[in-house]
Amino acid sequence: MAQIDDLPPLRDVIAAHGLDAKKSLGQNFLLDLNLTSRIARAAAPLEDCTVLEVGPGPGGLTRALLAAGAKRVVAIEKDTRCLPALSEIAAYHSGRLEIIEGDALKIDPVALAGGDKIKIVANLPYNVGTQLLLNWLTVDTWPPFWSSLTLMFQREVGERIVAKQGSKAYGRLGVLAGWRAEANMLFDLNPKAFIPPPKVTSTVVHVTPRETPLPCKLKSLERVTAAAFGQRRKMLRASLKSLTPDAETLIEAAGLKPTARAEEIDVPGFVALANAFDQS
Ligand code: SAM
Repeated sequence: MAQIDDLPPLRDVIAAHGLDAKKSLGQNFLLDLNLTSRIARAAAPLEDCTVLEVGPGPGGLTRALLAAGAKRVVAIEKDTRCLPALSEIAAYHSGRLEIIEGDALKIDPVALAGGDKIKIVANLPYNVGTQLLLNWLTVDTWPPFWSSLTLMFQREVGERIVAKQGSKAYGRLGVLAGWRAEANMLFDLNPKAFIPPPKVTSTVVHVTPRETPLPCKLKSLERVTAAAFGQRRKMLRASLKSLTPDAETLIEAAGLKPTARAEEIDVPGFVALANAFDQS
């Protein structure tokens, strides 16, 4: 691919700033411009929103987002070593890139929006990726502050996010994501695309919020899915005993079979179970 900007190649940026990847920060840098641009395109259009990027590192994906026309990018990076490299990108794209030094788990993303709709785009650090996704899926106000998530995960995590009932990967994450959003896996990335290469294949997941998820309380849905998938091989009448001694009445009130197992229950089934639990 031709250059996407006149900044130095990422390899040179990494060498110039001594950005040896740190495992403790989940650092696997993506240097292939075709792939960073493909991720940015998957989140398009970007002209009318603020893009929140978690973990820009040396700025490969950041540069692709700006080249793809993002109106404004707010990037949260924990590794202070990356800040000088990111400042060079901010100077080049005057006024369009705001860098925030800190831990994305501790920063309130709503405050960063400045009134705009937010699209979150990130090659997430593997050690905190699932927790960040859970935070974004469990915000109190729905529809949420974000209009889409375009995120890279280990493929195995991506499979759990998009999983439907009946599949091995289906669990609490799939129910929560399926209840509040629509999630799709877009494409895989070979470990060789990264420096250093991770041990596993990565995948890009695209998530859009449902305007009106089936009515139910998040806490109740979390309680019933935790109980059901906590003992996923057992029938519901056994696994839900941790919620109530009279599990069969609860399951029948939800219109489900007490002999069913967690992975056979679809999202509306879990919503019915959560609502029955609420009323019990
Ligand atoms: N976006 C870059 C790319 O695609 O090459 C780097 C991706 S690397 C997988 C993850 C990045 O997240 C690293 O730069 C790391 O320092 C940063 N990071 C790790 N934990 C973080 C946290 N809690 N908050 C913000 N950034 C974090």
